Amino acid sequence: METKQIIIIGSGPAGYTAALYASRAGLSPIVIEGHEPGGQLTTTTDVENFPGFPEGIMGPELMSNMRKQVQRFGTEFLSTKVSEINLAKRPFHIKCENGQEFLAETVIISTGASAKYLGLANEMQLIGKGVSACATCDGFFYRGKIVHVVGGGDTALEEANFLTRFADKVFLLHRKDSFRASKPMQERTFNNPKIEVVWNTEVKEILFDDSGVHGLKVYNNKSNETYDRKTDGFFLGIGHEPNTKFLKGQLALDDHGYIKTEGKHPDTSVSGVFACGDVQDPYYRQAISAAGSGCQAAIRAERFLEDQHDKTQKN
Ligand code: NDP
Repeated sequence: METKQIIIIGSGPAGYTAALYASRAGLSPIVIEGHEPGGQLTTTTDVENFPGFPEGIMGPELMSNMRKQVQRFGTEFLSTKVSEINLAKRPFHIKCENGQEFLAETVIISTGASAKYLGLANEMQLIGKGVSACATCDGFFYRGKIVHVVGGGDTALEEANFLTRFADKVFLLHRKDSFRASKPMQERTFNNPKIEVVWNTEVKEILFDDSGVHGLKVYNNKSNETYDRKTDGFFLGIGHEPNTKFLKGQLALDDHGYIKTEGKHPDTSVSGVFACGDVQDPYYRQAISAAGSGCQAAIRAERFLEDQHDKTQKN
């Protein structure tokens, strides 16, 4: 079986940036891209907060550009997923869903985190047309508008507060009559005159026409009442799920399933395995911070390989 110097699992901004650095360092990386190459940005429309694009850029175009840039330096891409991984000893053993198997001296994990959605009809088709799971990415487009946010944790309350910078009114819908978000976040929310909390409320349907979302059908679980609410935008704030199921028992994960990294470095609990992007970052979750951490992971992997080489030369 072929032993590669470096295998990168995941293909968002973190994975592609890691591949860019690793390929330019002559390490001939393989990127196992998954079935939806490009990650979360491929489901957004305009990206205006990635530096270098004065007029902004569409999410799918940004990811396609990153991929092309990486390709120039000889990275190999595999459009399959990892089915099994053994990180117990080096070289690490990786099995893919398409039957291919590899040994790798180092592994970079950049499988990201997926925003949770409610599973409503047309919810996914309306992303970019009034539905969003990222206020930081899309809030700007709701200047002077009315928006609704769903959720009762820190993500939802942070999104609601952020959205008041743009929107005239933010309604925060929560299925219970109390929040689980931290106390300071709750205080900030209750003190924000632009936010109105709507308790005991579940979203049942997204109302839309050709120009996008215009309302929500909601259910009040106290009064048993179902009614329509007008809105220009609908933001999901019900949490994220890191894509780490395939790593269970192999690496140290935190209570929410994110990979634990060491202080300021992308090192994981296994020497030679590095993590970057949202899979290890529940806090910033931005394309640019993911790209930056991808660069760090590649440089760490490169130095790790150099150290290993030096050790074998000495022995
Ligand atoms: P949480 O799991 O804490 O909260 C999710 C919220 O969404 C809950 O209120 C939950 O309702 C609600 N929810 C989940 N599923 C549904 C559904 N199907 N329908 C309606 N509502 C639903 O996730 P967060 O992303 O908010 O936070 C995750 C972690 O990240 C936490 O530890 C948080 O503190 C941290 N974080 C910190 C931030 C900060 O410090 N600035 C910012 C963002 C997150 P219910 O309460 O009824 O279960």
